[in-house]
Amino acid sequence: MPELSDVEGFRRYFARQAGGRRIERVEAPDADLLRNTSAQRLGRALKGERFADPRRHGKWLLPPTRGPIVLLHFGMTGRLSWSGEDPDPHSHDRVIFPLAGGALRFRDQRKFGGVWLARDEGERTEVTGPLGPDALAVERTDLDGRLAGRRGAIKSALMDQELVAGLGNLLSDEILWQARVHPRRKARGLEEPERAAIYDALRQVLRESVEHGRVPRREGWITGARDDRGAACPRCGTKLCHSTVASRSACWCPRCQPW
Ligand SMILES: [Zn+2]
Repeated sequence: MPELSDVEGFRRYFARQAGGRRIERVEAPDADLLRNTSAQRLGRALKGERFADPRRHGKWLLPPTRGPIVLLHFGMTGRLSWSGEDPDPHSHDRVIFPLAGGALRFRDQRKFGGVWLARDEGERTEVTGPLGPDALAVERTDLDGRLAGRRGAIKSALMDQELVAGLGNLLSDEILWQARVHPRRKARGLEEPERAAIYDALRQVLRESVEHGRVPRREGWITGARDDRGAACPRCGTKLCHSTVASRSACWCPRCQPW
């Protein structure tokens, strides 16, 4: 499932392939993925415009034009494909932007993602809902203040897009494992050294993940081990726990992250 690091990778891809190109029209082989508009309306709003380099906020990609803002959310399986690099269309291409010199395709197998149109920042907020600061930019004191007001588990607090935007299952589990904090600990009951460890882990996990354009399944990270049931903690060798926290799947080490 695309998280901040994946969408940051899409942002770079979008800028490299489609940035500055003139938009010719919009095609929607699957109009269901146009969430608040139609191919005709979106095409009319965008025709002749050029995509500026997109912004990203949390898991949202926002390629602005001089006028309207397009919003892309990648759901569970969304990604981008540029015809110059990947010439063959695919049956999962849901929305296509033919541009000068090529076509940018929004490809999404499971169709939880989508494309929205907003005329201005006010409409943009209506689409995204309230978003907290982007996890890549959030400051320590801001995050601490936000966590201090939360009754629930730290794992669900980190994944709440209104608290801080961009973290999903993999990133939140990796951050908590690296910080040695149990995912079910109450956010507002954390001690100062634990909050410091979470912030440091957040910075480091995001820095490395953004560089890879995804959460790397690397040795020495819990993300590299979590997919194998029965896998051992890369740090201490204890069998990892898999369960749910606030109805989301979670993975942690019972020894490194004591309750
Ligand atoms: Zn461990």
